Amino acid sequence: MSKSRRTYKYRLWPNRKQREVLFSTLEVCRQLYNDALKERREAWKLCRTCVSFSMQSAQLPACKAADPALGNVYSQVLQDVLHRVDKTYQAFFRRGRGFPRFKGQGWYDSFTYPQAGFGVNGGQLSLSKIGNVKIKLHRWLQGEVKTLTLKNENGKWYACFSSILDSEPLPENHDAIGIDVGLEAFAVTSDAEMVDNPRWFRAAQKELRRKQRHVSRCTKRSSGWKRACRRVAKLHRHVFHQRNDFQHKLSRELVNNYGIIAVEDLNIQGLAGGTLAKSVHDAAWSGFIRKLSYKAESAGRWLVKVNARGTSQQCPCGRAVPKKLWDRKHHCSACGLETIRDHASALEILRRGLRLRTETPALAGVALEAPSFSYGA
Ligand SMILES: [Zn+2]
Repeated sequence: MSKSRRTYKYRLWPNRKQREVLFSTLEVCRQLYNDALKERREAWKLCRTCVSFSMQSAQLPACKAADPALGNVYSQVLQDVLHRVDKTYQAFFRRGRGFPRFKGQGWYDSFTYPQAGFGVNGGQLSLSKIGNVKIKLHRWLQGEVKTLTLKNENGKWYACFSSILDSEPLPENHDAIGIDVGLEAFAVTSDAEMVDNPRWFRAAQKELRRKQRHVSRCTKRSSGWKRACRRVAKLHRHVFHQRNDFQHKLSRELVNNYGIIAVEDLNIQGLAGGTLAKSVHDAAWSGFIRKLSYKAESAGRWLVKVNARGTSQQCPCGRAVPKKLWDRKHHCSACGLETIRDHASALEILRRGLRLRTETPALAGVALEAPSFSYGA
C-alpha cells in the first residue's frame, strides 16, 4: 500500500512564561543557524573546504559546553537546525542560485522536533525542555506522526505535525481533464468550465490595497503605524485561510471526479520576467497544485504535469494557431475548433498529458479514448 504525507496544523495557546521560552528557543536556533552558516562560508572562503552536516553535528556537544543557552534547547531540535543549513546548501548547489543567507531577527520563525521529544495528551502538547502547552485540536490527527514543527506567525504560535498516511484509493475512473491557469479566472478546464476566483478575492484585494495605503501614510515605527501593520497582517492571514479553503475544495472535487488530471508544470520556467500580480497568481497556483498532488496520490489518481510552453499557440489537432497576448479567441482553420483562448490551452494541456501517459509503460495498458469536446453547447 502506498503512503502519503500530510501536515496538520493546530493553534497553540502558550501562557506568558511559555511564550518567553518559545521565543528564546527560536532565538537560540536562529543564532545556531547563523553560526553554522558562517562556519561553512568561512571554511569555503579560507581553505576551499566543505563542512558537512555530520561534521557540524559532531561539534554540538562542545558548543553546548561553551554556550549554556544551547543546553536549554532539546538536542534534536538543534540537530534539525543544522539539517536546515545543510538543506539550503544542497538546494543552492543544485540550482546554482539563491546563496544561503543569514537570518536576521524576525526572519527565523520555526523550529522542529524531528522524531521525538513531544506528545499530545488531551488538550495539552508536551514539549521536551518547554513543558505542557495548551493546544486546540480542532480536527483529528491521523496517520503516523513523524515530525513536529512549532511555528510563529504574527505573534501566534502553531503546531504543525507532519504525518504519514496510508492511501485510500478511490474507485477507478478513466475520465481525464486538463486545467490551464486562467488569466482572468482562477483556472479553465478542458471541459470548458471556468473556475472563477471566489467573490471574496477581489473584495479582499481592494481592502488590502486600502489598508496598505494607510500604512504608507503613517510615520514609520509610530504606534499608529504599528497598528496599521497589524491590520494588514491580519487581513493577509484571513485571505490566506480563505484561499486555502477554496483550493482544498476545488482539488478534492477534481480528484473525486477524474482519474487523470493534466496541469502545467510550474518547474519548467516560462517566459522570463513577470509582474507582481503574476507572481502572486503563480504562488496561489503552486499551492493549489501541491494540494491536488497529495490528494491525487492518496486516492490513486494520476496527476500529470506537462510542459505548457506554447499551449496557447497550438490547437489540440496539432495545427499552430498563433495568438497575441490580447487575443482572447481561438479559431482553428484545420479542424474548425472555435473557443476561448484559455479553453484551447486546457485542451492542449490535456492532449500533452494523455500523450505522456501512453509513453509511460506502466500505464500503457489502460484503454485510451480521445476525449471529445464541444464548447458552449
Ligand atoms: Zn485544430
